[in-house]
Amino acid sequence: MITPKDNDTFVRRFRKKMSKKDLKFNSRTIHGGQHPDKAYGAVMPPIYQTSTYAQTTPGGHQGFEYSRSANPTRTALENSLASIENGTYGLAFASGLAAIDAVIKLLNPGDEVVSTNDLYGGSYRLFKQIFEKYGIVFHFIGMQSIAAIEEKVNDRTKLIWVETPTNPMMNVIDIKAASALAKKHDLLLALDNTFATPYLQRPLDLGADIVMHSATKYLGGHSDLVVGALVVKDKDLADKLYFIQNASGAVCGPMDSFLTLRGIKTLHVRMQRHCENGKAIAEYLAKHPKIEKVYWPGFETHPNHNVAKAQMDDFGGMISFVPNGSSYDDAIKIVEKLEVFTLAESLGGVESLAGHPASMTHASIPKEEREKSGVVDALIRLSVGIEDVDDLIADLEQAIG
Ligand SMILES: *Cc1c(COP(=O)(O)O)cnc(C)c1O
Repeated sequence: MITPKDNDTFVRRFRKKMSKKDLKFNSRTIHGGQHPDKAYGAVMPPIYQTSTYAQTTPGGHQGFEYSRSANPTRTALENSLASIENGTYGLAFASGLAAIDAVIKLLNPGDEVVSTNDLYGGSYRLFKQIFEKYGIVFHFIGMQSIAAIEEKVNDRTKLIWVETPTNPMMNVIDIKAASALAKKHDLLLALDNTFATPYLQRPLDLGADIVMHSATKYLGGHSDLVVGALVVKDKDLADKLYFIQNASGAVCGPMDSFLTLRGIKTLHVRMQRHCENGKAIAEYLAKHPKIEKVYWPGFETHPNHNVAKAQMDDFGGMISFVPNGSSYDDAIKIVEKLEVFTLAESLGGVESLAGHPASMTHASIPKEEREKSGVVDALIRLSVGIEDVDDLIADLEQAIG
C-alpha cells in the first residue's frame, strides 16, 4: 500500500525530473504543472469523480476535503493553466463568465471599472445587468487610446478590464501601456486572453495582474465543454480569488477539468494551424470584390498592427468582415449558405464557425451601443478552424457568390 509519505516522495521525484520552469511553451502545454498520478502512476490525471475524501482523523487528509474547495483533476488543470500563462496560481471555473464574476467580486459598492467598449457581449451583460445593481460603476471606452482610459480614472477606480484582440472588431489594445497606467494609479489590470491564448500573447509578462479565459474556446479547443479560468502571479490576489471561488462555488467539475487539460496539450499545434488558415482566409476576403471590409490584426493596414506585432507572436484565426451593401439581409444570406463553416455561437474549436454578432453574440448589447464600436448589422465573424484551407475558401466562395 502506498502511504501518504511515499506518495509525496513519488510526486516530488517527478516534479524534480520535469522542472517545468525550464521548458519552452510547446512543452509546457503538455507537461506544465503535471506529474504522474500518485496512486498508480497514471500519465493523465484520473477524473476524480468524487465530492468528498476520507479522513483518518478530523483534518487527517491528503490535501483534499471537499471538491468545491479542491479536486485533484481540477488542481491538475489549474497547475497547467498557471504554467502556460507564465503565472503562479491558476483557478478553474464552471464558465468564462463565472471567472469574470469572481474578479468583479473583488470590488465593493462604489468602486469603478474602466472596460473595453467592444467586449464580449456576455461580459457586458454581466457588468451592466448584474453588477451595476450592486453599486459597481462601469465605463466602456475605446481603449486603443491609453489617454482615453486615463480620462475615466478617478479615486474610485479599482480595475481596468481589457479584452484584446476585441470581439468582434479585432481591435488591439496595448497591454504594456495599459499596465503602466494601472501601476501609476494603483489599479488592478485584468485581461481577457480568450482570443489570443498564451500561444500568441502572455499578458502577465506584459504587466497584467489577472489573466482570464473562456477555456470553452481555444484552450478546450473541441467545442465540447464550457469552462473558465483565471491566472495570477501574486499570492495575496490568488488567495482572495480562491476565497471567492470557494465561497461562491462556480467551480469547474472533474470531467470538464480533464477535457480542458487534454485540449491544452495540443493548443500549440492547433493554434499554429488556426493562424495559417486565418491568414489565408483574411487575405482571400481582402481581395474579394464583394467584400467591403475585413478586420484582422495581421494586416499592415490594421490601425493597431504595430501593437499587435509587438505583443503577439502571430495574428490568430478570428476574422470579421462586412459584405458590400452592408445590409442585415446580405449578411444573413451568406451565413445561411455556408456549408463547411457551421453557423453557431462560440469560437476556438477545431471546426470553422461563422457568426452574426448583431443577432447572436452581441444581441444583448443595444444597437446604438453596438454600432458605436463598429458592430454593424452586416458584420460577420469567422472562427477559422483547422480544416484544409482550400475547403474553407471554396465554401466562402460559394456563399459570397
Ligand atoms: C465566450 C467568451 C467569454 C465567456 O465565456 P463562457 O465560457 O461562455 O462563459 C468571455 N470572453 C470572451 C472573449 C469569450 O469569447
